[in-house]
Amino acid sequence: MTAYPTVKLFIGGQWIETGEAGAMEVVNPATGGVIGHCPKASPAQLDAALKAAGDAFPAWSRTSGAERHAILRRAADLLRERAPQIASVITAEMGKPRAQAVGEITGSADVIDFLGEEAKRRGGRLIPTRGNQLLAQIVTHEPIGPAVLLTPWNFPINLPAKKIAGALAAGCTAILKPAENTPASAQMLVECFVDAGVPEGVLNLVHGDPGPIAEHLIASPVTRKVSFTGSTAVGKHLGALAATHMKRFTPELGGHAPVIVSKNADLARAVAMCATTKFRNAGQVCVSPTRFLVAREIYDNFVAEFAAIAGKIKVGDPGADESVDMGPLAHARRISAMEQVVADTGGNRGEVVTGGSVIDSTGFFFQPTVIANPSPDSRFMTEEPFGPIAGIVPFEKIEDAVGIANSLRYGLAAYAFSGDLDEAHYLGRALKAGMVGINQLIVSSPETPFGGIGDSGFGSEGGEEGYLAFTDTKLVMLAKAGG
Ligand code: NAD
Repeated sequence: MTAYPTVKLFIGGQWIETGEAGAMEVVNPATGGVIGHCPKASPAQLDAALKAAGDAFPAWSRTSGAERHAILRRAADLLRERAPQIASVITAEMGKPRAQAVGEITGSADVIDFLGEEAKRRGGRLIPTRGNQLLAQIVTHEPIGPAVLLTPWNFPINLPAKKIAGALAAGCTAILKPAENTPASAQMLVECFVDAGVPEGVLNLVHGDPGPIAEHLIASPVTRKVSFTGSTAVGKHLGALAATHMKRFTPELGGHAPVIVSKNADLARAVAMCATTKFRNAGQVCVSPTRFLVAREIYDNFVAEFAAIAGKIKVGDPGADESVDMGPLAHARRISAMEQVVADTGGNRGEVVTGGSVIDSTGFFFQPTVIANPSPDSRFMTEEPFGPIAGIVPFEKIEDAVGIANSLRYGLAAYAFSGDLDEAHYLGRALKAGMVGINQLIVSSPETPFGGIGDSGFGSEGGEEGYLAFTDTKLVMLAKAGG
């Protein structure tokens, strides 16, 4: 088993063990035990990180795309090599089962590869001119400047990897502030970039209380871009701050993904996929399929089969038993959030078909839970649960299902299962979301943009958009020198 690393800050090419603002405990959510400590950066240490990122920007932004690609490719290879050790730390910090953690790491390496290749590929364009005097209209994508990257704990490698790789590939320098409960995972990722040859000051890592750190970094004149993944409430707050200081901002926020299951769908396939994907990462996934809208004709069977699969999910400490399907929730806050959602089903506002309770243990475990027919105004149907709770609602007409699916302000992922081609096309068009999966529940790959609309945020990361998010568009209009 991998020992829990000593968590450090990384500023201007130096690993720093002491946080001038103190330290905080890191807790294993499966045991409730303290596994390590994380240094908290002081304002002076944040200023040092800002200075390092600012000083390193001119030289890094002038490197060729090929040079940046070579470094990012090495970082991706190191990440693959170190997957076994990093997976152990992910599991200890946030409770993800090992196979899922390894999948996250290798998928992140592919994302780094793709974004590194974009550094070589992504050119500008030449726009035809309107007269003879004008020779060329040249559009280029210039690195925007030092970027502040704020990431949560549910994908402690993938989310920082997307942001770091996008920023560095585009020629930006960066300061990463990862989640308080997954600092060592982020550190091991940063080590891959450092060992791959990222120059001093180009990538910095700070830890501490997220609110004050985000405010300090966003307000600094050095910072030109802010990329945040987390809750809608925090995203709105940081967006207002970014606007005040006129910083480019990409928020990747929460979701409450609907899944429409038509009477034409392959029921056995749909229900098996839905019931297993829902509880991946204990449901703590922004694109987790959650509100299942099922045609009345197949509703009873869907509920019964979904609940049967959910009831058999093996829950436990993934650090002690690699065969568990679902680990703990990331912290105690998530447990009370689940309890509130379940409590709100009282008084005929939904029926808990399976699960519904905390699992009696030292860690933060909650049963895989299925609520049948939650009422439209229930907490479940209106608030993102972000945990192992699924709700299933019957519908009469496919248009009614689309109406329910589109009724929230969230718009991250949406899914539909239908065996009818015309209906599948209709659903793909009608569902309001940044990403729609039809007859499957995957909406993310290294090559494709990932992002939401409405209260789920705006902009994208991943794909070529994930590179362009760290650039400014620049126009050069070139005319003849005379004559
Ligand atoms: P939380 O809002 O306290 O924290 C979520 C993340 O946001 C943490 O990693 C934290 O570092 C960061 N954060 C919190 N306050 C911040 C601030 N003022 N400035 C900058 N960053 C800040 O909630 P939680 O209980 O840890 O997680 C559950 C909630 O977070 C859910 O509602 C879910 O929507 C959201 N979340 C979303 C994603 C996502 O991928 N979109 C990931 C994790 C959490």
